[in-house]
Amino acid sequence: MSILEISNISLTYPAMDSPAVNNISLNIEKNEIHALVGESGCGKSTTIRMIAGLENPTSGEIKYNGQLLNRAGYSVPPEKRNIGMVFQDNSLFPHLTVKENILFGIKDKTQRTEEKSEYFLNLTGLNGLGERYPHEISGGQVQRVALSRALAPEPELILMDEPFNNLDIRIKMNMLEEVGKILNKTNTTCLLITHEKSEAFILADRITVMREGTLLQTAKPPELYKSPVDTYVAEFFGRANHIPVKLNNGMFETAMGMINVPSAFEKNTLSELGFLVHRPWDVKISKDGDFEIEIVNSYFFGDYQEVRFKPINSESDVQFKFFTHIGEYFAPGTKLRVSIPAERLTFCSS
Ligand code: ADP
Ligand code: MG
Repeated sequence: MSILEISNISLTYPAMDSPAVNNISLNIEKNEIHALVGESGCGKSTTIRMIAGLENPTSGEIKYNGQLLNRAGYSVPPEKRNIGMVFQDNSLFPHLTVKENILFGIKDKTQRTEEKSEYFLNLTGLNGLGERYPHEISGGQVQRVALSRALAPEPELILMDEPFNNLDIRIKMNMLEEVGKILNKTNTTCLLITHEKSEAFILADRITVMREGTLLQTAKPPELYKSPVDTYVAEFFGRANHIPVKLNNGMFETAMGMINVPSAFEKNTLSELGFLVHRPWDVKISKDGDFEIEIVNSYFFGDYQEVRFKPINSESDVQFKFFTHIGEYFAPGTKLRVSIPAERLTFCSS
């Protein structure tokens, strides 16, 4: 069941010529953690600010639990939405203690009880810190107080705008795991905004990719990695090879030679020109491999080595890559045969 239904919303800021968010539609399912990812400036914050009620869409509508939140000329005010928010710069109130900060968002003052603050301190691992002030706790703890404060009014949906940006990488890994558990335990649906694919991979049940105000693809993390809709999405989630191809008599013509169209592809949906996209780890070296290639160079990346290659005798500058474990060295000019399993290939028209 969808808790949030976003239908064709757009927003153009007065000072701008083009929309910051351009006719997007997205459903968030109850209890899922959904990540909205994209480069800086693509419209992520604008999108959740509209869901929170901090901006009004120029057009389109948003429904929360089936109830209309927004439509041209109509908007439920933020405080009436019962949606929690956590921001990147989690400004806690400096003159309030941790405990008071956590209880602050609970509207019914009789509900701002000791038990409640103890519950959230416990839930977010802040036991014993309730009486401290924000400047007396660490960055990771500030983040957890902000999360507790957003959860305390028990919203069904919580929006998070890049809440992990300022955290040290090791603290961040811990926080991501904890936040996932807390959201699960409290049955809270979450829309997380991030420009970091690793955060989305670790936390999200589903991911939506945004670019220049539009949504490109929504899918589960492994599906997004394996079957990106285009080369942009492919690159966003990891290194990729894009082999330019041309459909020719039911086969793909490529610089490496002819490749059979994998049987899983729907032939009649393919455009004449496009790319066969796959991951460098999918390229397999073997004596009877399908393609003969020549090593151009190798780069050391610590955890792995990236080996650049081109089709043999190719005049073209287009290079591809495979990854090897450290110590497997291939000198430039080495000729090898490689294969790419058909089930690893995705066709992208752009
Ligand atoms: P993101 O969160 O993905 O980085 P934003 O939603 O903040 O992107 O911004 C989308 C676009 O809208 C950017 O081009 C940004 O400069 C512009 N923008 C954001 N807020 C405003 C504003 N209040 N007034 C005018 N333009 C804005
Ligand atoms: Mg933003």
